[in-house]
Amino acid sequence: MKIGVYPGSFDPFTVGHLDVLKSAASLFDIVYVAVLNNSSKKPAFRAEERRDMIQRVIEAEQMNNVKPGLFDGLVVDYAKSVGASYLIRGLRAITDFEYEFQIDAVNRQLSDEIRTVYFMASPSHSFLSSSNVKEIGFYGGSITGLVPPCNENFIRERLAKQ
Ligand code: ADP
Repeated sequence: MKIGVYPGSFDPFTVGHLDVLKSAASLFDIVYVAVLNNSSKKPAFRAEERRDMIQRVIEAEQMNNVKPGLFDGLVVDYAKSVGASYLIRGLRAITDFEYEFQIDAVNRQLSDEIRTVYFMASPSHSFLSSSNVKEIGFYGGSITGLVPPCNENFIRERLAKQ
C-alpha cells in the first residue's frame, strides 16, 4: 500500500494546497495531510482549527483516501508512525526549490526509508500562499477563489478580527 504524508503549516489551507492534495490523492492509496503544530511560529489559526478546516475540505471534495493529522516533532517520525514511505510537497518557484532541497537533505539524513515527491503548482496558483491570504483578509480584501469555499467565511471572519 502506498501511503504519503503531505506536511505543512496550512495556515490556512488554500486552493493551491488543494491542487497538490488532489494530485497526491490520485497517486497514493492513503494521504495524511499533517498540520505542523510548531510553537515557535505564531499562526493565525490554531493547529486544531487548521486540521478541522482540512477535514471540511476532505468532506466537501469527497476525498475518501485522505485523512487529516497533527504533528509537532520530526516529519519523518510522523510518517513512520502512520506507515508512510513518502512525503509530498508542492513547488511554486525557485525559492521553494532551494528550501525544499535543504529540507530533503535533512530528511534523507534522518531516514533513508522515506522519499519526498513534489508537485508543481498550477500556473494559476503559483503566486498563492497562506501569507497572501492572511494579508488580503487582514485588510478586508476578497479571499474568494483563494481558499476552498467551505472555509471561506470562517477564514474571512477570523482574519478581519486580527
Ligand atoms: P510550510 O510552512 O511547511 O512551507 P505551507 O503550508 O506554506 O507549509 O506549504 C505546505 C506545502 O505546500 C509546501 O510544500 C508548499 O511549497 C506547498 N504549497 C503552498 N502553496 C502552494 C501553491 N499555491 N501551489 C502548490 N503548492 C503550494
